[in-house]
Amino acid sequence: MFEGLTEKLSGIFDGLTRRGALTEADVTAAMREVRRALLEADVALDVVRSFTDKVKERAVGANVVKSVTPGQMVVKIVSDVMVETLGSDAQPIDLDAPAPVAIMMVGLQGAGKTTTTAKIAKRLVDRQGRRVLMASLDVKRPAAQEQLAVLGRQVGVDTLPIVAGQTPVQIAQRAEQAARLQGYDVVMFDTAGRTHIDEPLMAEMAEIKGAAKPHEILLVADSLTGQDAVNLAKSFDERVGITGIVLTRIDGDGRGGAALSMRAVTGKPIKLLGTGEKMDALEDFHPSRIADRILGMGDIVSLVEKAAESIDAEQAMKMAEKMRKGRFDLEDLSNQLAQVEKLGGIGGIMGMMPGVGKLKQQMADANIDERVIKRQRAIISSMTREERRNPDILKASRKKRIAAGSGMKVEDVNKLLKQHRQMADMMKMLGGGKKGGLGKMASM
Ligand code: GDP
Ligand code: MG
Repeated sequence: MFEGLTEKLSGIFDGLTRRGALTEADVTAAMREVRRALLEADVALDVVRSFTDKVKERAVGANVVKSVTPGQMVVKIVSDVMVETLGSDAQPIDLDAPAPVAIMMVGLQGAGKTTTTAKIAKRLVDRQGRRVLMASLDVKRPAAQEQLAVLGRQVGVDTLPIVAGQTPVQIAQRAEQAARLQGYDVVMFDTAGRTHIDEPLMAEMAEIKGAAKPHEILLVADSLTGQDAVNLAKSFDERVGITGIVLTRIDGDGRGGAALSMRAVTGKPIKLLGTGEKMDALEDFHPSRIADRILGMGDIVSLVEKAAESIDAEQAMKMAEKMRKGRFDLEDLSNQLAQVEKLGGIGGIMGMMPGVGKLKQQMADANIDERVIKRQRAIISSMTREERRNPDILKASRKKRIAAGSGMKVEDVNKLLKQHRQMADMMKMLGGGKKGGLGKMASM
């Protein structure tokens, strides 16, 4: 699936990731190509625009972590934005309702409703051990009800006995009653489609909805129809209301436009993908896995994730080096506090620093809490760069200004300065592994 789009994007990203440094112009040029690739893949114009805007915005503000190239970073950002566009989390079929839970399938003729009904039923029986009853409400096509019965026998799922001459609503009522009386967990309603959306179809769907009271209304749409599938979903949602989408014929979809636009345009989740004619050709829709497939760049994404994890450790090492050399100004302190905050505790960061093993427990015991850290950082951020680098210049008037700027008292500023001095002194001794009074930071 999505081979065409994958190939184009891979080409763009190969170029990006091979370069050492990237300029903003590189990113802009790459995004222009991405934009073209997405449009060719039949992704909705609005979606393309917001996609490339988001990537550009984040790429410009991104902190490129060491050991990955800027290009690799951009690929990771594209991947993140793609996952968001696809809907972030997988949304399985929701059966959280009193039994029998009704699922209604809607869509155009030939989209794959009947096939998908049987596929879903089979999966609920096989994987979740549910008792499922299927009913065809398609009285338009002569053999439609028989088609579902055949599939039912094939996958081992019960179908409602066919009674000639009933209306869709009558069949729906009979199915609901049968499911209730015979203790089925789930009752699935396969409906009739038309070649295009028209008023009689919408009216029929609304009527069936009223009778069947479905907990899920799944629109089955052919992914090969691209933007049409997306517009169809929008219309069905406005008119009948849908809870999710099943995209079929993904196996033949080289473009991916419908998959990529669906969530953003309709606000409704893609729940399942039909990937073939066989009864087990049905996949859960996992945005991150789909993004991986489309980008074909899963290895780079995980590389950047790993590098981002190790950046914290690396910064901590650098800090420790500075400390050992006896240079530890307020800027370092602020950075360190930020790290402590990020790493969720003093134990984590101390564990990464060489030569401070003995201090670790003491720090943990001191139980430095987040509020304290926030206040201390607020004070430091109210200082000028000069003041942070050279705390000795902090006399009364400057302290007053800093206290006012951070919403604290002058004595809080004094306390912080005193503690910093103690820390700096202690840092000088760290090489010898001597214990110091770091725990005092907690008392503010
Ligand atoms: P309905 O009119 O919406 O009920 O559509 P059907 O369920 O009768 O399906 C129409 C045709 O599409 C059948 O030949 C199916 O085998 C085929 N079909 C359905 N889903 C898929 C799919 O995901 N991939 C492929 N390749 N064919 C599918
Ligand atoms: Mg059908």
